[in-house]
Amino acid sequence: MKVAVVGGGWAGIATAVSLVDAGHEVVVFEMAPQLGGRARSVAGRPDYDNGQHILIGAYRDSLALMRRLGVDPDLVLQRLPLALPYPGEPGLRLPPGAPLVAFTRGVLGHAGWPLRARLGLLAAAGGWLLRGFRCDAGLSVAALCAALPHEVKRDLIEPLCVAALNTPAPQASARVFLRVLKDALFSGAGSADLLLPKRPLSDLLAGPAAAWLGPRLRLGQRVQRLEPGWRVHGDKGSEAFDAVVLACTSVEAARLAADIAPAWSATAQGLGFEPIVTVYLHSTGSALPSPMLALREGPDAPAQFAFDQGALGGAPGRFAFVVSGAAPWVARGDCGEAVLAQALRELRWATPPVIDKVLTEKRATFACTPGLRRPPAFIAPGLWAAGDYVDGPYPATLEGAVRAGRAAAQGVAGANPATSGSPTSSPRA
Ligand SMILES: Cc1cc2nc3c(=O)[nH]c(=O)nc-3n(C[C@H](O)[C@H](O)[C@H](O)COP(=O)(O)OP(=O)(O)OC[C@H]3O[C@@H](n4cnc5c(N)ncnc54)[C@H](O)[C@@H]3O)c2cc1C
Repeated sequence: MKVAVVGGGWAGIATAVSLVDAGHEVVVFEMAPQLGGRARSVAGRPDYDNGQHILIGAYRDSLALMRRLGVDPDLVLQRLPLALPYPGEPGLRLPPGAPLVAFTRGVLGHAGWPLRARLGLLAAAGGWLLRGFRCDAGLSVAALCAALPHEVKRDLIEPLCVAALNTPAPQASARVFLRVLKDALFSGAGSADLLLPKRPLSDLLAGPAAAWLGPRLRLGQRVQRLEPGWRVHGDKGSEAFDAVVLACTSVEAARLAADIAPAWSATAQGLGFEPIVTVYLHSTGSALPSPMLALREGPDAPAQFAFDQGALGGAPGRFAFVVSGAAPWVARGDCGEAVLAQALRELRWATPPVIDKVLTEKRATFACTPGLRRPPAFIAPGLWAAGDYVDGPYPATLEGAVRAGRAAAQGVAGANPATSGSPTSSPRA
């Protein structure tokens, strides 16, 4: 089949690579001048990423996709055992080994928490395990963890929740959170490991994908309209296809599918968003005690994590401070200054840090709330969606995007002939 992929983020790349591997003819339309979507280096400034990204060992499909494109994850990612050190405190750290044993040893050995807090977390985790990490779809993370000791919520649950779901615990889906915990903490040695980029983000996937896809790419071409059948109308003319995968943002997918599948489009249109602000600070000669440091957010402390880019193979003296679930700070408008003040208060510096760059992604991820209805991958015969927002077990993550891309490619290629884009079900225009 000849398939159009609309959007060249990680979902679109995964879709295109899977389709090419299955023997299909593929054209990728990407409106930006480069691939990568939200997970890319900043255009014209490849030494800055469009926000600090973290992968974890459980991102099986993302790591496989990198390898497929000739990228060795060990060369581009720094693998560290899961640890949440705070300034001046070693924090929770998991020793290597079988997941259950490592988690139990890590929690019991966390001297920063009183014994009752450690036992409280182990008892709660045991309960989640017994229930298969499933819970009512309407439950929030705050409600799920209400009975946990204060220290556990403050130092583990709340930072993990906002980092993984980009949604504060009171508004975040407990079901999705439990799924992330299950895959990270309890599914094979190394799945909880943090994988921190030690190369610019575009070197992880977008750059190698551009080289791999070559002439199949139409960069700088926004798809304006779809005509059932399928004809794709772009900035520079129109072209006929057997099937289309919308791997663009949910907002654009809703627009393009509005007349074709109004109910699907309304569900996609209904998603809310959460911002992320990344504040890059510079301080010559300074270093953090570890490449990644957790911070306690508060009324005057926006950032939950800080990254030492010099320790990760990037520019020495540059630090990325991440503010997830950043809506209140975007509204206040002084996030950069507040992060600088927080950094000065909480960390030691060789020279006074200054603000290098503040990147605000207002629609960084969908808001991962309890009971959220997410649109499915199938839109109409021959028309599929791929993207981190498509219905699935994961929050908006690279892995969610890649898995959605692979699933859409399988759908197109006829896993279900009744709904696939085979020429008989949807003749070429
Ligand atoms: C600041 C920040 C930090 C993050 N941190 C992490 C993290 O640590 N770990 C993690 O796993 N995830 C993280 N994420 C989330 C992750 O980046 C996303 O889940 C993932 O990149 C989504 O990929 P996607 O392909 O679904 O969508 P996108 O990356 O949004 O790709 C959609 C693409 O479609 C293109 N497009 C849109 N409309 C059209 C059109 N009409 N025609 C042609 N092209 C079109 C866009 O230009 C874009 O390239 C973070 C996101 C942000 C913003």
